[in-house]
Amino acid sequence: MKNDSNETKKPLNFIERIIEEDLASGRISQSVTRFPPEPNGYLHIGHAKSICLNFGLAETYGGQCNLRFDDTNPAKEEMEYVESIKKDVQWLGFDWQGDIRFTSDYFDQLYTWALGLIEQGKAYVCDLNQEEMRAYRGTLTEAGKDSPYKERSVEENLALFEKMRAGEFDEGACALRVKIDMAHPNMQMRDPVIYRIKKVAHHQTGDKWCIYPSYDYAHGQSDAIEGITHSICTLEFEEHRALYDWFIANLPVPSTPRQYEFSRLNVNYTITSKRKLKQLVDEGHVDGWDDPRMPTISGMRRRGFTPKSIREFCDMAGVTRTDGIVDVSMLEFAIREDLNTNATRAMCVLEPLKVTLTNYPEDKTEQLVGPKHPNRIELGARSLPFSREIFIDQDDFRESANKKYKRLVIGKRVRLRNAYIIEADEAIKNEQGEIIEVKAHFIENTVGKNPEDGIKAKGVIHWVDAKQHIDCEVRLYDRLFTEASPDVGGKDFLSCLNPDNLRVLTGCKGEMSLAEAGQDDHYQFEREGYFILDAKEKHVSIRVFNRTIGLRDTWKK
Ligand code: ATP
Ligand code: MG
Repeated sequence: MKNDSNETKKPLNFIERIIEEDLASGRISQSVTRFPPEPNGYLHIGHAKSICLNFGLAETYGGQCNLRFDDTNPAKEEMEYVESIKKDVQWLGFDWQGDIRFTSDYFDQLYTWALGLIEQGKAYVCDLNQEEMRAYRGTLTEAGKDSPYKERSVEENLALFEKMRAGEFDEGACALRVKIDMAHPNMQMRDPVIYRIKKVAHHQTGDKWCIYPSYDYAHGQSDAIEGITHSICTLEFEEHRALYDWFIANLPVPSTPRQYEFSRLNVNYTITSKRKLKQLVDEGHVDGWDDPRMPTISGMRRRGFTPKSIREFCDMAGVTRTDGIVDVSMLEFAIREDLNTNATRAMCVLEPLKVTLTNYPEDKTEQLVGPKHPNRIELGARSLPFSREIFIDQDDFRESANKKYKRLVIGKRVRLRNAYIIEADEAIKNEQGEIIEVKAHFIENTVGKNPEDGIKAKGVIHWVDAKQHIDCEVRLYDRLFTEASPDVGGKDFLSCLNPDNLRVLTGCKGEMSLAEAGQDDHYQFEREGYFILDAKEKHVSIRVFNRTIGLRDTWKK
């Protein structure tokens, strides 16, 4: 059962409760779940929730979880997606039981079972076209009527289905349907189609098939073949459950899985629809599926989100049956929490302004030190070269300012982080009147100490040595959309793309320790936020850092 005695007890979600009951009653001896993505796009934050749920149950209850590609729609599927999905699941920290599986592995079995349904008089080949089929189906308030082809003989159906399989009919000419009840109050039960003709090659089965099973027919039977005990899907499949159970009851399947539905995860200021995300990619609104602005797992990874923060977020969002929209600030909270504890500190000046310390010797450089993490001294220290010329951020200097501005001002003092207190003397300007340099002086003997004259500094700013630093580019991301619900109410989601969702700063100056930044190293650039080296641009000579998130929530409500 869940929970170690020393772990803080979190109430069980409804699926955990069901599993505990099933284990207790002996209905199952082990939970078996699966994550069943369709390989028609990259995984997004919504999928992360399903992954955390399905794989998480296996972890909690010592069960197993399969990774199954639900590949019944070859026209939209690609191996690139299969590979990206495997990578994302593993990156989140999960592993599947045994080999990866494909619904297409079961096409032979599904076909054999379909023949069985025909032989028992429970399935028939129907020649109605899609439009006619829809008309015959009736509505929510009106019963449908039987297809004129419903009473074909078993022999005729077997012969026609064989011709379908052999490619003798055109797409749409006919389909195989199960005989249930055209007056059933649940529309899903009105003789649903289980096989369609699609003359499309498949990424796994090549040209072997030109008929493909429907999702409803394939899904539950794949679950049964794999011995899935709890087949968890999102709420829009609630109506399909009766059909799921019908197949399990009417086919000689080796086990009896049950379907449970939970609500989808929706996050505001972004979208969780593969189709729409694909549109952003295809139309060039973003730079690929792994653009750091995308809510895809690969985009979030590139942006600097950690698996821990995503898992934590999914956990906070909870597993329920009530649809809702989760505030993106919860996700931002989760990543800040993780990085505040774990990111190495560094200084990087995003918009540099040169400061010359006129009383510091010209040829001298001293090595100051700063902790890698202020609360985790065991992580060690970084060496900070310091000399006569340094860079500070343009925002951290003003010729004059009121008391609220606690940075560098002419005639005033400020502390350089991990270094001396300095006092500004003069601003040097170019012909356009822009400040291009500040002349200042440093106060001796103030590293880690207050000045002897008792005049303290009001604030602390970050800086980088002008002689020894790395040049870098910094990319600042903001929310993808300006509106909380970009795709609700018939709105065109493209019309509320945030025009300021990316700011690229070139000419940034980072401290020397950033020369060693590796792909998995997260940094807090002091006073600027959390950053990670961009995984795609590592070949270029100038290092590119992505801002994962700012230090505080600055989004205007
Ligand atoms: P999309 O609408 O983005 O195309 P999908 O449901 O068609 O999503 P699948 O590849 O079929 O995508 O999804 C794989 C699994 O992930 C399914 O079990 C599905 O229920 C689940 N899933 C997809 N989106 C979400 C979401 N937003 N929240 C929770 N689970 C989700
Ligand atoms: Mg789906």
